[in-house]
Amino acid sequence: MRLSTINQPPVSTSVWQQELQHAINNPDHLLHLLELPPTHFSPAAHRQFKLRVPHSYLKKIAKRTPEDPLLLQILPVAEELCLDPTFNSDPTGDQIAEKIPGLLQKYAHRALLLVSKTCPLHCRYCFRRHLSFPPPTLPDTLQWLNKQDSLHEVILSGGDPLTLSDDKLTAWITALAGLPDLRRLRIHTRFPSTIPSRITPKLLQGLTQTHLQPILVLHINHPQEINEEVHNALEQLYHAGILLLNQAVLLKGINDNLDILTQLSETLIHHKIFPYYLHQLDQVQGATHFQVTVSQRQLLTEQLRTHLPGYLMPQIVEEVAGSPYKKPLL
Ligand code: SF4
Repeated sequence: MRLSTINQPPVSTSVWQQELQHAINNPDHLLHLLELPPTHFSPAAHRQFKLRVPHSYLKKIAKRTPEDPLLLQILPVAEELCLDPTFNSDPTGDQIAEKIPGLLQKYAHRALLLVSKTCPLHCRYCFRRHLSFPPPTLPDTLQWLNKQDSLHEVILSGGDPLTLSDDKLTAWITALAGLPDLRRLRIHTRFPSTIPSRITPKLLQGLTQTHLQPILVLHINHPQEINEEVHNALEQLYHAGILLLNQAVLLKGINDNLDILTQLSETLIHHKIFPYYLHQLDQVQGATHFQVTVSQRQLLTEQLRTHLPGYLMPQIVEEVAGSPYKKPLL
């Protein structure tokens, strides 16, 4: 199953699971709530990659504002149908990095597990929007990981790993903690900024119960994504002793200006999150309209360096398929 054909999450009763279940997946409904005309989206783009927006995220989008930076990240539009030969369906080489079903290894001493196909939000520029990986099984994963020398870090990704129930996630973490050389557990998630009710005491306990150092890499592209509810979720994560990093994507019309990128770093550190990466857009089919030119990126980077202390300057990087590390950019 591709990310674009994700089914509804299983029915459940906890607050965050209900919110995931009731995320908006009808563009007409979304535009009605935002008081925008129904002509504002592309049905063909929606068929290729379905809309999904939880209500917590919707609340942060301004009404009657088609250029709202949060709306632009999630609305299916006709520009997605533009074909460009330099864009493809697997720009970061995920398929060639798959070692066993659902387990990718691209870099030394780390392994990436795609433990969920579901996301709280569908980002239109997602580099996995065309990909399909079967979920890894715990026994096969442990068998493969146990054969690796000096594996220091496991990264849970997807989809979004926090769509797993607390019990399932805790089972993964407990099992991984038995690997002899493993030191860190990293989780890539958009939940704290999209469905902040996901941060529950039981989740925090599951993330911190082993000797593994827990690191959450969040995905926040614009300072407007952090409101009071998100702030409260981030506070809980911080006070639980979890290292918080952020990876953003440089997106045309959304965060490609000096003021917004400066505010983003300042807002992140105010919430005890370190700006980690600012990714050059992965050239995935359907995302050409988000691309920022090289000269504009270089100018922005230069300007940003003059505005921020070094620890608030994200690394500007590009992921190159098959490369043993992310390529630093100017
Ligand atoms: S949350 Fe991440 S994996 Fe999910 S759609 Fe967005 S970018 Fe893709």
